[in-house]
Amino acid sequence: MKETIELFSKGPLGTCWYGRYHYMEPWTGCEHSCPYCYARSRNIVLNTLEEKHTEFHNPVPLFPEPELLQKIKEKADSGEIDILKLSRYTDILTPSFVENGLSYRILKILAESKIRRIILTTKGVPDEKIIQLFGQYKEKFSYNEAVRPSAALNPAPLECLDSHLKPLTQRLDAAARISKAGVKTTIHLDPFVAGIDDTPEALSAFLGMLKERQLNRVMFSYLLFSQGMIPSMKENVPAPLLEKIMADYDFSGSRKVLPGQEDTASQALKNDIIKASVEKVADALEAGGFEFVLCSLKSVKGFDHTKYKRNTICDGTFYA
Ligand code: SF4
Repeated sequence: MKETIELFSKGPLGTCWYGRYHYMEPWTGCEHSCPYCYARSRNIVLNTLEEKHTEFHNPVPLFPEPELLQKIKEKADSGEIDILKLSRYTDILTPSFVENGLSYRILKILAESKIRRIILTTKGVPDEKIIQLFGQYKEKFSYNEAVRPSAALNPAPLECLDSHLKPLTQRLDAAARISKAGVKTTIHLDPFVAGIDDTPEALSAFLGMLKERQLNRVMFSYLLFSQGMIPSMKENVPAPLLEKIMADYDFSGSRKVLPGQEDTASQALKNDIIKASVEKVADALEAGGFEFVLCSLKSVKGFDHTKYKRNTICDGTFYA
């Protein structure tokens, strides 16, 4: 039988938080349709899209709404889930479900449930009701907005990666309001593109925007390539630019997030490239007085993290 997306699942093998959290996927597909999205080419997602007769950019709930909300409520109140992450294969703030209120109705059920912590990572923008809900349950939510620094430039050199997203200012303004309401709020520089997001111009414009909004907590993770995303990158990113980006990657080796599942294999930056980039970004964040950790940095050879004030290696708790 073909594997399809489940509404709730445990954190996968190979992640630093294994066993400590669950994921929830209320629908399959995501309107943000990012060209680098790894979810789009995963077999589990493709099988579910086929079952729901839809395409990735047109998300469809896993069940009719009353059934979906009932199932979420039952599981959330079962006491089996301590920490819930939203989501692996989609975005809880995909625009049409923010607009029709489904995202709010789901988040309200979760907020009122027995779940202790809800960690939400998004490229979207919450509406007024959702922002109020986060403030009302500030101890429960961790809000994470994923953005790329070069989006702060005009013109943005990689605008083609963000063409379905709302403007950066709108996304950061919402994050700032949520942070001011007392919710732990972290800005993820993700997916960070070495050579484009780490230029002095991009970093200075972007970090200035964060400072203006008193957004002081930052994580970053670099763009990874997988074979499955190459067609959509080719479709969206001009060829010379894509060639330049890909020249910095090591396509001779790959790492698999899940053992035995070829569709999770990905290629990372060459070590000298990532090391130089990480140093540049970490120095800028340190100089700006930001609190930050670096995702996956354990694997960068030669990077001296001891020169920074706090422990910069992510142990999975920074945004928990
Ligand atoms: S927001 Fe996330 S899930 Fe949605 S398309 Fe972009 S990377 Fe994929």
